[in-house]
Amino acid sequence: MSTKTEPSFRESVDLMFNHAVALMDLPPGLEEKIRVCNATYTVRFGVRLRGKIETFTGYRSVHSEHMEPVKGGIRFAMGVNQDEVEALAALMTYKCALVEAPFGGSKGGLRIDPRQYEEHEMEQITRRFAYELAKRDLIHPSQNVPAPDMGTGEREMAWIADQYRRMNTTDINANACVTGKPAHAGGIQGRVEATGRGVQYALREFFRHPEDVAKAGMSGKLDGKRVIVQGLGNVGYHAATFLQHEDGCRITGIIERDGALFNPDGIDVESVRSWIVKHGGVTGYPDATHTASGAAVLEEDCDILIPAALEGVINMENANRIKAPLIIEAANGPVTAGADEILREKGTVIIPDMYANAGGVTVSYFEWVKNLSHIRFGRMQRRQEEARHQLVVDELSRLDEYLGDAWSMTPDFKEKYLRGADELELVRSGLDDTMRTAYQKMSQVWHERDDVKDLRTAAYIIAIERVSSSYRAKGL
Ligand code: GLU
Repeated sequence: MSTKTEPSFRESVDLMFNHAVALMDLPPGLEEKIRVCNATYTVRFGVRLRGKIETFTGYRSVHSEHMEPVKGGIRFAMGVNQDEVEALAALMTYKCALVEAPFGGSKGGLRIDPRQYEEHEMEQITRRFAYELAKRDLIHPSQNVPAPDMGTGEREMAWIADQYRRMNTTDINANACVTGKPAHAGGIQGRVEATGRGVQYALREFFRHPEDVAKAGMSGKLDGKRVIVQGLGNVGYHAATFLQHEDGCRITGIIERDGALFNPDGIDVESVRSWIVKHGGVTGYPDATHTASGAAVLEEDCDILIPAALEGVINMENANRIKAPLIIEAANGPVTAGADEILREKGTVIIPDMYANAGGVTVSYFEWVKNLSHIRFGRMQRRQEEARHQLVVDELSRLDEYLGDAWSMTPDFKEKYLRGADELELVRSGLDDTMRTAYQKMSQVWHERDDVKDLRTAAYIIAIERVSSSYRAKGL
């Protein structure tokens, strides 16, 4: 993979794909079949707003239908374009294959700045876009299941689900047409935090592999590591909060739209988030140094860099100056193919996007299954589990009495052990298992093959191998 000029996002994904494919033995022609986007639908529609008709452009790209439904978020942003949506759809295919979510890859986008519109206007626009997609089966429980992405969240997903339901009044599985819905409207506990939680679980698993930690020139545990996070949106905020409160990480830098905050002693993520909500940005935040040029803080000394905003922020221009020995791509495509090569040569370890941010689609998968089964996870077994645990606790209590001072139960054991798992605990356990299993597989390929020099190539090889066996098993 040699790149002289900065590749576009779409080219970056293709270059990384080609780099992996060159190390594989695929039947002739299959490689191209897997790489290309099957179809991209472009829609332009008008909405009457503030006394005039405004025209919007939206996309839904389907990358691979080796499994259906296809899955992937819908992004609302001004930068949305066909190249971007196709690159993101391709990443969804590989991401789903890597974490064994039984979906093909898709992605959607609407060119809009959501901050310019009132809530009722956004509802009108979202419903109209959903209508255009649903009437072509580009929103459908068994064909194409969108989810939140940049600029969209639970609110938009609730409108989309309702729009689909209005158009398909007898579809008993209507709720499964989109994931990321609010918990009270067919959603699942833990979906909002899922991508950030996945980043945390990914880092925990990485630090359970001392030989991988050593490859980054680091040592020790996650506890105490200095972290810089770019983007305090849904993903960056949750990842940073969990790492700060549950893993003992020190968040030394936060990069946002209006500059960056830096404090080597650590920054309280929660209070920065409240500051942003109140003041619209990080400027003026009292307990850290503010730098107007946010990008410069990407280059500050730290242990872990978490780009959790846009694609292409680490590129051929700044890659050489990045000091972090470990980068975890919470965003999709934050490191260009050109930068990837520079960083690999420098020895920087990158935990790649298709794995690092797969927590979102993993929990989306759980939500979709919940919607299709029409029952909350844990509803059947929770009390039965508690009853069985009660039997053990009763026996232990007898032993406790019998042994007197010689032995007693740990004070909160009873309470902890008795409680059957609720939906949130089950979701977290499923997500943790998914992140651990996928990491172990990537790490194994990385170590076993001399020609695989990084986790990204390992991830691509695993994903492409799975997509290709699915094609080979079924025919094209
Ligand atoms: N938009 C998210 C992603 O890029 C989530 C997709 C989903 O849940 O389907 O992975």
